[in-house]
Amino acid sequence: MNPMISVEGVDKWFGTNQVLFDIDLQIAEGEMLCLIGPSGSGKSTLLRCINHLEEINTGRIRVDGELIGYQEKRGRLHELTEHAACRQRVGTGMVFQQFNLFPHMTALENVSFAPIKIKGTPKAEAHEHARSLLERVGLGGKAGSYPSQLSGGQQQRVAIARAVAMRPKVLLFDEPTSALDPELVGEVLEVMKDLVRTSQMTIVVVTHEMGFAREVADRVVFMADGRIVEQGTPAQVLDSPQNERTREFLSAVI
Ligand code: ADP
Ligand code: MG
Repeated sequence: MNPMISVEGVDKWFGTNQVLFDIDLQIAEGEMLCLIGPSGSGKSTLLRCINHLEEINTGRIRVDGELIGYQEKRGRLHELTEHAACRQRVGTGMVFQQFNLFPHMTALENVSFAPIKIKGTPKAEAHEHARSLLERVGLGGKAGSYPSQLSGGQQQRVAIARAVAMRPKVLLFDEPTSALDPELVGEVLEVMKDLVRTSQMTIVVVTHEMGFAREVADRVVFMADGRIVEQGTPAQVLDSPQNERTREFLSAVI
């Protein structure tokens, strides 16, 4: 079966600084993958390349068979400059460390905005779906609240509902709990675990929450210095790491 996400031979440079080195990574449909590694190792950059928020310098990335950054027209590849169109076409959603909710919209409006504006979903239908998603993330009573009236954990749960509202095939999380007060981390991880267990989405999570990775990941990938250093099941990578860099990192975070 073809992978849902295929990263082949990807290099990424920022100016004269190379930050990704020959990355190869195939992620199966429905797989849940946790990406771990020290700060600055290129985890966010890799997610951003998959979501076409960054251009790559070498290699190819495909999501659900579609070449990221290009559009096939009459058998020829054309470079795509419209990033939002690309994301919409391949169906990736992303949840960021800093929530990034629209501050002037209620929770309900945040969740239903893109389905209405980008997909053309009728308003009533988009609102109904948004309400059911807010219910699902435990915020049924907060549909009319603005981000400033919500805790960080509640805002992040709205952001998750917003990403899911577009019915993406691939959902990317970049350190979704890193900006939260410790007592709010659990409620967001619970929502994510529920998504992993009940949805068919392919999910990639950059996280320092090793307990979460151990509990729900199918695979853990450890990156350092722009390279994939080691990967395997949570038990393999977290309990018996083979590489010295992995051991060093794990002893610092656990
Ligand atoms: P991680 O998410 O693992 O902490 P990043 O992907 O954010 O790592 O960063 C990898 C490297 O790329 C770092 O050296 C960082 O400074 C650099 N970097 C990230 N984004 C940019 C950017 N927009 N411009 C220049 N350098 C960047
Ligand atoms: Mg990062």
